[in-house]
Amino acid sequence: MLGTLAKWLRIMGYDAAYAEKGNDNEIIELAEREDRVLLTRDRELSSRYKNSLLIDGTELEYQIKKVVNSLGIDIDRKNYLSRCTVCNIPVKKISKEYAKGKVPSHAYESHDEFWICPNCKRIYWKGTHYENMKQFIERLGL
Ligand SMILES: [Zn+2]
Repeated sequence: MLGTLAKWLRIMGYDAAYAEKGNDNEIIELAEREDRVLLTRDRELSSRYKNSLLIDGTELEYQIKKVVNSLGIDIDRKNYLSRCTVCNIPVKKISKEYAKGKVPSHAYESHDEFWICPNCKRIYWKGTHYENMKQFIERLGL
């Protein structure tokens, strides 16, 4: 239910696993095993796990603020785009040469820094999407 929130936490550089499947017991076990805070919109699930945070709103802006404020997270811009938004693992810097032909030519020409996800091989760079994302986070005023 909170896939978009998880994606945004990853964009901001936080380790946010997302349980795409699994019943409540499995989700709780996973959260315990990996020592995670369980973010959920499910009041019952939230009441069953001590280290959980009930996300009681549907707006993304509200959800991000709730997580950051409730968990006392320090937002560090240095961490933006340090993690694959799909796989939730840290990306690795690659040479510009390596990115050649693997990213759109306009991106190749206008950027010098590129990162790759070791898992899905997506390549990231700080283009327009990065600027938009930064502005979105800054507008939250956290
Ligand atoms: Zn990936």
